[in-house]
Amino acid sequence: MELKDLYRDVILDHNRTPRNFGPLEGASANVEGSNPLCGDRLTLHLRIAGDRIADVKFEGHGCAISTASASLMTEAIKGRTRAEALELFGRVHALLTDDAAVPDESLGKLAALSGVREFPARVKCASLCWHTLATALRSPAPESIPAVSTE
Ligand code: ZN
Repeated sequence: MELKDLYRDVILDHNRTPRNFGPLEGASANVEGSNPLCGDRLTLHLRIAGDRIADVKFEGHGCAISTASASLMTEAIKGRTRAEALELFGRVHALLTDDAAVPDESLGKLAALSGVREFPARVKCASLCWHTLATALRSPAPESIPAVSTE
């Protein structure tokens, strides 16, 4: 099997069966994000305990890439600290935008997002949830930040 097929299968799987999809009871922040270019909309629910993302879920609707990316992201960041999640954001952003960025094994399934590089018009679909997350994590008051837009 080619690596490309593997990436495609991960994206299709996470679009078909999104992980951590739905409302989150006791969320400390519910941040909306949208990508007007494609029409993707999502709401990221975060429960932050101390410095850690204790739980995370998402809702909304979008294209296959935006849904799969959000699903993969929630799996990857649950239980991580703010700093760890932001570091991951930086690495995924590089994967999506830098042709020289090589996905290393520590990224796990997130490596599949590097496949999106071949479709520049879809990069914002994949990065929407990550920008929404980063905005929430960088805000001193994530419970009251305005909606995030990729435009
Ligand atoms: Zn999209």
